[in-house]
Amino acid sequence: MDEIGCSREEVLSLLAGYRARDVPHNRIFSSMCTVPHQVALAAHEFFASTNLGDPGLYPGTAEIERRLIAELGSLLHGTSTGGYATSGGTESNLQAIRIAKKLHPTEKPNIVVPASAHFSFDKTADILGIEMRLAPYREGEYTVDVDSMAELIDKNTIAVAAVAGTTEYGVIDDVPKVSALAREHNIWCHVDAAFGGLVIPFLKNPVPFDFAVDGVSSITLDPHKMGMSTIPCGTLLLREPEHMNLLAVDSPYLTMKTSFTLTGTRPGADVAGAYAVIKYLGRAGFREIVTGCMENTRRLVSGMEAFGYKTVINPVMNLAAFHPAEIPKGWKVSKTRAGHLRFVMMPHVTRDMVETFLLEVSSLF
Ligand SMILES: *Cc1c(COP(=O)(O)O)cnc(C)c1O
Repeated sequence: MDEIGCSREEVLSLLAGYRARDVPHNRIFSSMCTVPHQVALAAHEFFASTNLGDPGLYPGTAEIERRLIAELGSLLHGTSTGGYATSGGTESNLQAIRIAKKLHPTEKPNIVVPASAHFSFDKTADILGIEMRLAPYREGEYTVDVDSMAELIDKNTIAVAAVAGTTEYGVIDDVPKVSALAREHNIWCHVDAAFGGLVIPFLKNPVPFDFAVDGVSSITLDPHKMGMSTIPCGTLLLREPEHMNLLAVDSPYLTMKTSFTLTGTRPGADVAGAYAVIKYLGRAGFREIVTGCMENTRRLVSGMEAFGYKTVINPVMNLAAFHPAEIPKGWKVSKTRAGHLRFVMMPHVTRDMVETFLLEVSSLF
Protein backbone atom coordinates (compact mmCIF):
# COMPACT_ATOMS: atom_id res chain seq x y z
CA MET A 1 0.00 0.00 0.00
CA ASP A 2 1.33 3.45 -0.88
CA GLU A 3 1.86 6.03 1.86
CA ILE A 4 -0.16 8.69 0.03
CA GLY A 5 -3.33 7.84 -1.86
CA CYS A 6 -4.21 9.06 -5.34
CA SER A 7 -7.08 11.16 -6.64
CA ARG A 8 -10.48 9.72 -7.45
CA GLU A 9 -9.78 10.24 -11.18
CA GLU A 10 -6.50 8.39 -10.91
CA VAL A 11 -8.11 5.50 -9.07
CA LEU A 12 -10.93 5.19 -11.57
CA SER A 13 -8.57 5.37 -14.49
CA LEU A 14 -6.38 2.71 -12.88
CA LEU A 15 -9.43 0.47 -12.50
CA ALA A 16 -10.61 1.18 -16.03
CA GLY A 17 -7.30 -0.12 -17.31
CA TYR A 18 -7.91 -3.48 -15.65
CA ARG A 19 -11.57 -3.57 -16.64
CA ALA A 20 -10.60 -3.07 -20.28
CA ARG A 21 -8.78 -6.41 -20.13
CA ASP A 22 -12.00 -8.26 -19.29
CA VAL A 23 -13.94 -9.93 -22.09
CA PRO A 24 -16.80 -7.67 -23.24
CA HIS A 25 -20.26 -9.16 -22.88
CA ASN A 26 -20.93 -8.97 -26.61
CA ARG A 27 -18.35 -11.75 -27.05
CA ILE A 28 -19.55 -13.99 -24.22
CA PHE A 29 -21.62 -17.10 -24.96
CA SER A 30 -20.08 -19.08 -22.13
CA SER A 31 -21.60 -17.57 -19.00
CA MET A 32 -24.77 -18.08 -17.00
CA CYS A 33 -24.33 -14.60 -15.59
CA THR A 34 -25.27 -11.55 -17.59
CA VAL A 35 -25.33 -7.76 -17.60
CA PRO A 36 -27.43 -6.70 -14.59
CA HIS A 37 -30.73 -5.02 -15.33
CA GLN A 38 -30.51 -1.22 -14.94
CA VAL A 39 -33.09 -1.28 -12.14
CA ALA A 40 -30.92 -3.81 -10.27
CA LEU A 41 -27.92 -1.51 -10.58
CA ALA A 42 -29.90 1.42 -9.18
CA ALA A 43 -31.14 -0.68 -6.25
CA HIS A 44 -27.65 -2.06 -5.65
CA GLU A 45 -26.16 1.38 -5.24
CA PHE A 46 -29.05 2.45 -3.00
CA PHE A 47 -28.52 -0.51 -0.64
CA ALA A 48 -24.72 -0.71 -0.85
CA SER A 49 -24.21 -0.14 2.87
CA THR A 50 -26.74 -2.69 4.13
CA ASN A 51 -25.69 -5.90 5.89
CA LEU A 52 -28.23 -8.71 6.08
CA GLY A 53 -25.91 -10.52 8.47
CA ASP A 54 -27.24 -8.19 11.14
CA PRO A 55 -30.90 -7.90 10.12
CA GLY A 56 -32.01 -6.15 13.33
CA LEU A 57 -30.18 -3.07 12.08
CA TYR A 58 -31.79 -3.30 8.64
CA PRO A 59 -35.40 -4.42 9.17
CA GLY A 60 -36.46 -2.80 5.90
CA THR A 61 -33.84 -4.64 3.88
CA ALA A 62 -34.63 -7.87 5.76
CA GLU A 63 -38.27 -7.43 4.73
CA ILE A 64 -37.16 -7.16 1.09
CA GLU A 65 -35.37 -10.48 1.48
CA ARG A 66 -38.53 -12.11 2.88
CA ARG A 67 -40.55 -10.68 0.01
CA LEU A 68 -38.03 -11.88 -2.55
CA ILE A 69 -38.28 -15.41 -1.13
CA ALA A 70 -42.09 -15.21 -0.98
CA GLU A 71 -42.41 -14.00 -4.58
CA LEU A 72 -40.01 -16.58 -5.97
CA GLY A 73 -41.71 -19.24 -3.85
CA SER A 74 -45.13 -18.40 -5.24
CA LEU A 75 -43.75 -18.33 -8.79
CA LEU A 76 -42.58 -21.89 -8.10
CA HIS A 77 -46.01 -22.92 -6.77
CA GLY A 78 -45.05 -22.83 -3.12
CA THR A 79 -47.31 -21.70 -0.29
CA SER A 80 -45.61 -19.89 2.59
CA THR A 81 -42.19 -20.78 1.18
CA GLY A 82 -39.22 -20.35 3.50
CA GLY A 83 -35.54 -19.91 2.80
CA TYR A 84 -33.12 -17.03 2.35
CA ALA A 85 -30.93 -15.19 -0.13
CA THR A 86 -27.58 -16.90 -0.53
CA SER A 87 -24.34 -16.01 -2.25
CA GLY A 88 -25.36 -18.27 -5.15
CA GLY A 89 -26.27 -21.78 -6.20
CA THR A 90 -23.25 -23.28 -4.46
CA GLU A 91 -24.31 -22.05 -1.03
CA SER A 92 -27.96 -22.96 -1.70
CA ASN A 93 -27.07 -26.54 -2.65
CA LEU A 94 -24.74 -26.90 0.33
CA GLN A 95 -27.30 -25.59 2.80
CA ALA A 96 -30.11 -27.76 1.40
CA ILE A 97 -27.99 -30.89 1.86
CA ARG A 98 -26.90 -29.66 5.28
CA ILE A 99 -30.57 -29.57 6.32
CA ALA A 100 -31.04 -33.11 5.00
CA LYS A 101 -28.03 -34.25 7.00
CA LYS A 102 -29.45 -32.76 10.19
CA LEU A 103 -32.84 -34.35 9.51
CA HIS A 104 -31.42 -37.83 8.93
CA PRO A 105 -28.52 -38.41 11.31
CA THR A 106 -26.61 -41.50 10.22
CA GLU A 107 -23.02 -42.72 10.57
CA LYS A 108 -22.16 -42.76 6.88
CA PRO A 109 -24.54 -40.44 5.05
CA ASN A 110 -24.70 -40.36 1.26
CA ILE A 111 -26.58 -38.37 -1.36
CA VAL A 112 -27.60 -39.55 -4.80
CA VAL A 113 -27.32 -36.89 -7.50
CA PRO A 114 -27.51 -36.93 -11.30
CA ALA A 115 -24.31 -37.27 -13.36
CA SER A 116 -25.10 -33.75 -14.58
CA ALA A 117 -24.84 -32.32 -11.05
CA HIS A 118 -22.99 -29.04 -10.79
CA PHE A 119 -19.54 -29.22 -9.14
CA SER A 120 -21.00 -27.45 -6.10
CA PHE A 121 -22.23 -30.91 -5.03
CA ASP A 122 -18.61 -32.13 -4.94
CA LYS A 123 -17.81 -29.25 -2.59
CA THR A 124 -20.94 -29.98 -0.57
CA ALA A 125 -20.03 -33.64 -0.13
CA ASP A 126 -16.47 -32.74 0.82
CA ILE A 127 -17.41 -30.06 3.34
CA LEU A 128 -20.23 -32.04 4.94
CA GLY A 129 -18.24 -35.28 4.94
CA ILE A 130 -20.80 -37.27 3.02
CA GLU A 131 -20.51 -39.65 0.10
CA MET A 132 -21.81 -38.47 -3.26
CA ARG A 133 -23.22 -41.12 -5.60
CA LEU A 134 -23.66 -40.20 -9.25
CA ALA A 135 -26.66 -41.60 -11.06
CA PRO A 136 -25.93 -42.02 -14.79
CA TYR A 137 -27.72 -40.37 -17.70
CA ARG A 138 -30.54 -42.00 -19.56
CA GLU A 139 -29.31 -43.68 -22.71
CA GLY A 140 -28.70 -41.02 -25.38
CA GLU A 141 -29.90 -38.17 -23.17
CA TYR A 142 -28.44 -35.89 -20.53
CA THR A 143 -31.19 -36.28 -17.95
CA VAL A 144 -30.86 -38.64 -15.02
CA ASP A 145 -31.85 -42.29 -15.25
CA VAL A 146 -34.23 -42.55 -12.32
CA ASP A 147 -34.11 -46.37 -12.22
CA SER A 148 -30.34 -46.24 -11.73
CA MET A 149 -30.87 -43.57 -9.12
CA ALA A 150 -33.22 -45.91 -7.25
CA GLU A 151 -30.55 -48.63 -7.19
CA LEU A 152 -28.03 -46.29 -5.59
CA ILE A 153 -30.28 -45.44 -2.64
CA ASP A 154 -29.72 -47.32 0.61
CA LYS A 155 -30.50 -46.85 4.31
CA ASN A 156 -27.78 -44.20 4.63
CA THR A 157 -29.10 -42.03 1.80
CA ILE A 158 -30.22 -38.69 3.22
CA ALA A 159 -31.21 -36.89 0.00
CA VAL A 160 -31.70 -37.16 -3.73
CA ALA A 161 -31.36 -34.27 -6.15
CA ALA A 162 -32.72 -33.44 -9.58
CA VAL A 163 -31.49 -30.67 -11.86
CA ALA A 164 -34.00 -28.41 -13.58
CA GLY A 165 -31.90 -26.81 -16.27
CA THR A 166 -28.51 -28.54 -16.22
CA THR A 167 -25.42 -26.39 -16.34
CA GLU A 168 -24.01 -28.14 -19.40
CA TYR A 169 -27.04 -28.84 -21.62
CA GLY A 170 -29.98 -26.99 -20.06
CA VAL A 171 -32.08 -30.13 -19.84
CA ILE A 172 -34.59 -30.88 -17.10
CA ASP A 173 -34.61 -34.07 -15.03
CA ASP A 174 -37.88 -35.90 -14.43
CA VAL A 175 -38.59 -34.18 -11.11
CA PRO A 176 -41.91 -36.01 -10.44
CA LYS A 177 -40.12 -39.37 -10.70
CA VAL A 178 -37.16 -38.29 -8.58
CA SER A 179 -39.43 -36.86 -5.90
CA ALA A 180 -41.58 -40.02 -5.92
CA LEU A 181 -38.39 -41.91 -5.15
CA ALA A 182 -37.63 -39.55 -2.27
CA ARG A 183 -41.12 -39.98 -0.85
CA GLU A 184 -40.89 -43.74 -1.11
CA HIS A 185 -37.70 -43.64 1.00
CA ASN A 186 -38.85 -40.72 3.14
CA ILE A 187 -35.78 -38.61 2.32
CA TRP A 188 -35.07 -35.05 1.22
CA CYS A 189 -35.64 -34.11 -2.42
CA HIS A 190 -33.65 -31.12 -3.62
CA VAL A 191 -34.18 -29.51 -7.03
CA ASP A 192 -31.26 -27.53 -8.40
CA ALA A 193 -32.93 -24.88 -10.55
CA ALA A 194 -30.14 -22.34 -10.16
CA PHE A 195 -30.36 -21.58 -13.86
CA GLY A 196 -33.80 -22.95 -14.78
CA GLY A 197 -35.83 -21.44 -11.95
CA LEU A 198 -36.36 -18.19 -13.82
CA VAL A 199 -36.59 -19.79 -17.27
CA ILE A 200 -38.85 -22.84 -17.05
CA PRO A 201 -41.90 -20.97 -15.60
CA PHE A 202 -41.79 -18.70 -18.67
CA LEU A 203 -41.52 -21.38 -21.37
CA LYS A 204 -44.54 -22.22 -23.55
CA ASN A 205 -45.30 -25.61 -21.96
CA PRO A 206 -43.35 -25.78 -18.72
CA VAL A 207 -42.77 -29.26 -17.32
CA PRO A 208 -43.46 -29.77 -13.61
CA PHE A 209 -40.25 -29.17 -11.66
CA ASP A 210 -41.11 -27.10 -8.60
CA PHE A 211 -43.19 -27.15 -5.39
CA ALA A 212 -46.20 -28.18 -7.50
CA VAL A 213 -44.56 -31.60 -7.41
CA ASP A 214 -45.32 -33.40 -4.13
CA GLY A 215 -42.22 -34.30 -2.21
CA VAL A 216 -39.94 -31.54 -3.49
CA SER A 217 -38.37 -30.26 -0.26
CA SER A 218 -36.08 -27.47 -1.45
CA ILE A 219 -35.14 -25.56 -4.58
CA THR A 220 -32.04 -23.60 -5.57
CA LEU A 221 -32.75 -20.57 -7.78
CA ASP A 222 -30.14 -17.94 -8.68
CA PRO A 223 -31.34 -14.39 -9.35
CA HIS A 224 -27.78 -13.55 -10.48
CA LYS A 225 -28.29 -15.75 -13.52
CA MET A 226 -31.57 -15.31 -15.40
CA GLY A 227 -32.86 -12.93 -12.70
CA MET A 228 -30.46 -10.26 -14.00
CA SER A 229 -29.63 -9.09 -10.50
CA THR A 230 -26.19 -7.93 -9.50
CA ILE A 231 -23.75 -10.62 -8.38
CA PRO A 232 -23.86 -12.38 -5.89
CA CYS A 233 -27.49 -13.35 -5.46
CA GLY A 234 -28.79 -16.87 -5.07
CA THR A 235 -31.77 -18.19 -3.17
CA LEU A 236 -32.56 -21.33 -1.23
CA LEU A 237 -36.30 -21.98 -1.20
CA LEU A 238 -37.81 -24.36 1.35
CA ARG A 239 -41.25 -25.96 1.26
CA GLU A 240 -41.32 -25.97 5.07
CA PRO A 241 -39.97 -22.69 6.49
CA GLU A 242 -39.22 -24.39 9.85
CA HIS A 243 -36.48 -26.46 8.24
CA MET A 244 -34.30 -23.34 8.38
CA ASN A 245 -34.13 -23.82 12.15
CA LEU A 246 -31.98 -26.90 11.62
CA LEU A 247 -29.24 -24.58 10.38
CA ALA A 248 -29.32 -22.30 13.40
CA VAL A 249 -26.23 -21.53 15.43
CA ASP A 250 -25.98 -19.05 18.30
CA SER A 251 -24.90 -15.61 17.17
CA PRO A 252 -23.91 -13.61 20.24
CA TYR A 253 -23.33 -9.83 19.97
CA LEU A 254 -25.59 -9.41 16.89
CA THR A 255 -29.18 -8.17 16.79
CA MET A 256 -30.43 -11.71 16.13
CA LYS A 257 -29.78 -14.51 18.62
CA THR A 258 -29.28 -17.16 15.95
CA SER A 259 -27.74 -17.29 12.48
CA PHE A 260 -29.00 -19.63 9.74
CA THR A 261 -26.88 -18.50 6.84
CA LEU A 262 -23.51 -19.82 5.74
CA THR A 263 -21.84 -16.44 5.44
CA GLY A 264 -21.93 -13.93 8.27
CA THR A 265 -21.84 -10.44 6.89
CA ARG A 266 -23.82 -10.57 3.67
CA PRO A 267 -24.96 -7.95 1.20
CA GLY A 268 -28.45 -6.52 1.02
CA ALA A 269 -27.57 -4.68 -2.19
CA ASP A 270 -27.90 -7.64 -4.54
CA VAL A 271 -31.07 -8.78 -2.74
CA ALA A 272 -32.63 -5.36 -3.29
CA GLY A 273 -31.41 -5.62 -6.90
CA ALA A 274 -33.07 -8.99 -7.42
CA TYR A 275 -36.31 -7.81 -5.87
CA ALA A 276 -36.25 -4.64 -7.97
CA VAL A 277 -36.01 -6.66 -11.20
CA ILE A 278 -38.92 -8.89 -10.18
CA LYS A 279 -41.13 -5.92 -9.33
CA TYR A 280 -40.07 -4.02 -12.45
CA LEU A 281 -40.53 -6.81 -14.99
CA GLY A 282 -43.37 -8.85 -13.52
CA ARG A 283 -44.18 -12.22 -15.07
CA ALA A 284 -44.95 -10.58 -18.43
CA GLY A 285 -41.53 -8.93 -18.56
CA PHE A 286 -39.72 -12.17 -17.72
CA ARG A 287 -41.79 -14.07 -20.29
CA GLU A 288 -40.73 -11.56 -22.93
CA ILE A 289 -37.06 -11.88 -22.01
CA VAL A 290 -37.14 -15.68 -21.93
CA THR A 291 -39.04 -15.75 -25.23
CA GLY A 292 -36.35 -13.54 -26.78
CA CYS A 293 -33.58 -15.78 -25.42
CA MET A 294 -35.34 -18.85 -26.85
CA GLU A 295 -35.74 -17.17 -30.26
CA ASN A 296 -32.04 -16.35 -30.29
CA THR A 297 -31.25 -19.94 -29.31
CA ARG A 298 -33.30 -21.27 -32.24
CA ARG A 299 -31.68 -18.75 -34.60
CA LEU A 300 -28.21 -19.82 -33.47
CA VAL A 301 -29.11 -23.49 -33.96
CA SER A 302 -30.64 -23.03 -37.41
CA GLY A 303 -27.73 -20.84 -38.48
CA MET A 304 -25.11 -23.30 -37.21
CA GLU A 305 -26.94 -26.28 -38.71
CA ALA A 306 -26.93 -24.54 -42.07
CA PHE A 307 -23.11 -24.64 -41.87
CA GLY A 308 -23.11 -28.33 -40.93
CA TYR A 309 -22.70 -28.03 -37.15
CA LYS A 310 -24.61 -30.77 -35.34
CA THR A 311 -26.57 -30.15 -32.16
CA VAL A 312 -26.14 -32.56 -29.25
CA ILE A 313 -29.70 -32.08 -28.03
CA ASN A 314 -32.70 -30.14 -29.22
CA PRO A 315 -32.57 -27.08 -26.90
CA VAL A 316 -35.07 -27.25 -24.05
CA MET A 317 -33.95 -23.96 -22.56
CA ASN A 318 -31.78 -21.06 -23.76
CA LEU A 319 -28.71 -23.24 -23.99
CA ALA A 320 -27.42 -24.93 -27.14
CA ALA A 321 -24.72 -27.58 -27.48
CA PHE A 322 -22.94 -28.70 -30.62
CA HIS A 323 -20.53 -31.49 -31.48
CA PRO A 324 -16.89 -30.35 -31.48
CA ALA A 325 -15.98 -28.17 -34.47
CA GLU A 326 -14.03 -25.02 -35.22
CA ILE A 327 -15.51 -21.68 -34.21
CA PRO A 328 -14.30 -18.17 -35.06
CA LYS A 329 -11.60 -16.66 -32.85
CA GLY A 330 -12.35 -14.00 -30.23
CA TRP A 331 -15.61 -15.49 -29.00
CA LYS A 332 -16.05 -17.09 -25.61
CA VAL A 333 -17.80 -20.43 -25.98
CA SER A 334 -17.31 -23.08 -23.32
CA LYS A 335 -16.81 -26.82 -23.60
CA THR A 336 -18.76 -29.47 -21.71
CA ARG A 337 -16.98 -32.35 -19.97
CA ALA A 338 -17.76 -34.42 -23.08
CA GLY A 339 -16.07 -31.79 -25.26
CA HIS A 340 -19.23 -30.33 -26.80
CA LEU A 341 -19.45 -26.63 -27.64
CA ARG A 342 -21.79 -24.93 -25.18
CA PHE A 343 -23.62 -21.65 -25.85
CA VAL A 344 -25.64 -20.05 -23.05
CA MET A 345 -28.04 -17.60 -24.63
CA MET A 346 -28.35 -15.08 -21.82
CA PRO A 347 -30.23 -11.75 -22.03
CA HIS A 348 -27.01 -9.92 -23.04
CA VAL A 349 -26.82 -12.14 -26.14
CA THR A 350 -28.73 -10.00 -28.62
CA ARG A 351 -29.98 -10.99 -32.04
CA ASP A 352 -27.31 -8.72 -33.55
CA MET A 353 -24.64 -10.54 -31.61
CA VAL A 354 -25.90 -13.89 -32.92
CA GLU A 355 -25.93 -12.60 -36.52
CA THR A 356 -22.41 -11.17 -36.16
CA PHE A 357 -21.22 -14.51 -34.81
CA LEU A 358 -22.89 -16.45 -37.64
CA LEU A 359 -21.33 -14.13 -40.20
CA GLU A 360 -17.90 -14.92 -38.76
CA VAL A 361 -18.75 -18.61 -38.79
CA SER A 362 -19.59 -18.34 -42.49
CA SER A 363 -16.16 -16.89 -43.21
CA LEU A 364 -14.56 -20.09 -41.85
CA PHE A 365 -15.80 -21.95 -44.92
C1 LIG B 1 -24.67 -22.03 -11.71
C2 LIG B 1 -25.15 -23.26 -11.11
C3 LIG B 1 -24.81 -23.60 -9.80
C4 LIG B 1 -23.83 -22.82 -8.98
O1 LIG B 1 -24.24 -21.55 -8.73
P1 LIG B 1 -23.22 -20.39 -8.28
O2 LIG B 1 -24.11 -19.22 -8.21
O3 LIG B 1 -22.17 -20.31 -9.34
O4 LIG B 1 -22.67 -20.76 -6.95
C5 LIG B 1 -25.38 -24.73 -9.26
N1 LIG B 1 -26.22 -25.49 -9.99
C6 LIG B 1 -26.56 -25.21 -11.25
C7 LIG B 1 -27.51 -26.08 -11.99
C8 LIG B 1 -26.03 -24.08 -11.86
O5 LIG B 1 -26.36 -23.80 -13.13
